[in-house]
This record gives sequence, C-alpha cells and structure tokens, in this order.
Amino acid sequence: MHELGITRNIVAIVAEHAAGRRVTRVALDVGRLSGVMSEAIRFSFDVVAQGTCLEGARLDIRDIEGLGRCRICATQFATPALYTPCACGCRDIERIAGEELKVREFEFETSEHRASASA
Ligand SMILES: [Zn+2]
Repeated sequence: MHELGITRNIVAIVAEHAAGRRVTRVALDVGRLSGVMSEAIRFSFDVVAQGTCLEGARLDIRDIEGLGRCRICATQFATPALYTPCACGCRDIERIAGEELKVREFEFETSEHRASASA
C-alpha cells in the first residue's frame, strides 16, 4: 500500500524534528488531488507510530479541496479532478491547492513546535 510508505515518511520526519521528545499531535494537509487517501494514512498511523516518540499522538488531517486558476480568464474555481476545465472552456489551469501532502504542524509534550515539511 502506497500510503503505508507515506505514513512511515511522515513519522520519520516528525520523529527527526522531535529529537526524542514525545509528540502529542501531528497535523497534516492532504490535498484531494494528491493521489493519497487520507483515510489510509489515518488507518496506518497508529501502527507505524508504535514504538516511536509519536506513539499515542493525535493525528489531525485536513483535506484540501482542489483549487485552480484559469490562465486565460483568471477565474479561480474548484477543481474536483486534476483536469477540470474552466467554465470558459480553457484547460490551461494553474494549480493553487489540492496537490499538497505535508506536515502542517506538530506538538511536543512540553512545548509546541510549528514546522512544515514535505513528506
Ligand atoms: Zn477561463
């Protein structure tokens, strides 16, 4: 499963930043067009976190809706699929949101640390 490897990456990145401190919460941004199922990450997180400083941490996943901007008419619109065309018929779309997969922030037991990293 593709998401299992991604979850391992996320846990490894956060564990590295935590440097041995206990992590209580991890917040992720998962774009709906990223090709990653946030449910699968949620499902594998507890197992992957077991035995690491992330064990027992709360996982907050924010699903990011697809958003694009037309390069011809500059309209900004929701893109439920990767190649949703603009209402003007144009398919030359700049991606604004929806493809991200990142650790938005995480919290230690004693202090809070905000960081952003790509998985
Ligand atoms: Zn347009």
